[in-house]
Amino acid sequence: MSPKYEMVIGLEVHAQLSTNTKLFCGCSTKFGADVNTNVCPVCLGMPGALPVLNRDAVTMAVQAGVALNCDIQHESVFARKNYFYPDLPKGYQISQFELPVCLGGSLDIEVDGAVKRIGITRIHMEEDAGKLLHQGAMGIADSTYSLVDLNRACTPLIEIVSEPDLRSAAEARAYVETLRQILRTIGVNDGNLEEGSLRVDINISLRHVGATQFGTRCEVKNVNSFRSIDRAIASEFIRQQEVLESGGRIVQQTRNYHDDTQTTTPLRDKEDAHDYRYFPEPDLLPLLLTDERIQSIRAAMPELPHAICRRYQQGLGLTRADADILIEEIGMRRFFEACLACAQDISPKEISKWVIGDLNALLKPKGGFGPSLSLSPEYFVKLIRLISSGALSGKMAKEMLPQLIETDQDPDVLMANLGGGQISDESTLLEIVRKVISENLDVVEKVKSGKTASANFLMGQVMKQSQGKAKPDLVMSLILAEINT
Ligand SMILES: [Zn+2]
Repeated sequence: MSPKYEMVIGLEVHAQLSTNTKLFCGCSTKFGADVNTNVCPVCLGMPGALPVLNRDAVTMAVQAGVALNCDIQHESVFARKNYFYPDLPKGYQISQFELPVCLGGSLDIEVDGAVKRIGITRIHMEEDAGKLLHQGAMGIADSTYSLVDLNRACTPLIEIVSEPDLRSAAEARAYVETLRQILRTIGVNDGNLEEGSLRVDINISLRHVGATQFGTRCEVKNVNSFRSIDRAIASEFIRQQEVLESGGRIVQQTRNYHDDTQTTTPLRDKEDAHDYRYFPEPDLLPLLLTDERIQSIRAAMPELPHAICRRYQQGLGLTRADADILIEEIGMRRFFEACLACAQDISPKEISKWVIGDLNALLKPKGGFGPSLSLSPEYFVKLIRLISSGALSGKMAKEMLPQLIETDQDPDVLMANLGGGQISDESTLLEIVRKVISENLDVVEKVKSGKTASANFLMGQVMKQSQGKAKPDLVMSLILAEINT
């Protein structure tokens, strides 16, 4: 049976800009500070305090706009969005309304190998509200009172509004994943859904398959993981379908998603813009961006994920899977790039193999490739170079790696401490090979009679006597040469 209804989805993504300070004051934006410590008269909404626009936030908003192919506006205007809520000390939020900083744009998403272009309506800048801490219960419903933490108040956000071009949960998810990757890669957002630095509101409506008119939509809030994007859309689809099937009418409203029950409940009837009594913020001048400023931001744009992916595959010969890992793990990619810069003589593939493989495995429990990593790319590259030159076996390199990470000492020094590197000197090895052969004449006979696999036993003995330092391929050729003469 073909489906009767089709979903129409548009997303509003709030992304916290990765500035050091807030949008209109100098308070820190650092996550996890003690409650109400990152505050000042401006973000507390004290009478007479005046906002001053953060230049870095503007740059980041424009960068996001460039990355999403938007028209960057030469003039945009901040407005007051008036509403009352305890986490909003001024009684209004400063937000761009009629004239946002970016208009029109697009984002290409990939679902099941097919690329689809999703329209971007606009990107506007706004300040965040504070946070309510509901006491004595898990949620607001059973709570007896609430406390207010204003550390987050006035944190810079961009709201990225998509066109209603998405038709499934898979597309919505791909959109958020792709958007998140772009924002993280260009360094304007840390992509953390759980900590709320990326928040997704889902506008969803249903219509009969083939219909061209949109149905009445509901906005679903409180979706804070990729899994809950799928689940919230699925549950809202079922709810709206049931309403329509029973002859009912969808009421335009904002609904709250609950991950524990995987259902949505009404939060409030959807406000229209006029409910907020928007008017231009009298304490801020219009934001004017000259051609020069926009051009200089464009010129300094960090490389976008799809360009990195292409460069890694076509330029460096990495697999798509490895390119994807490096793009997703930004710290790892920075380290990889730093290694490339000092390793013109080693194949990028070899470096990526060690970075993604052994190094990553060892660093994962220690906080990954974060700022606490003291390992210098030069020494790491030197280790790989020792392997390619045959001075060190892969096995020995793996043994040395934890120490290298710990001490960041010259691999030459570490190798000497471990009693020297791999033995690739032929005369030294030949001595050991001859000794092993003389001790195992019965095995030699087996090899001679055609049981070539028995040579592996001899090889094992040589490795044992050399404490694992003998160069394996050389040992094998010496063994065979000795037996066959
Ligand atoms: Zn402040």
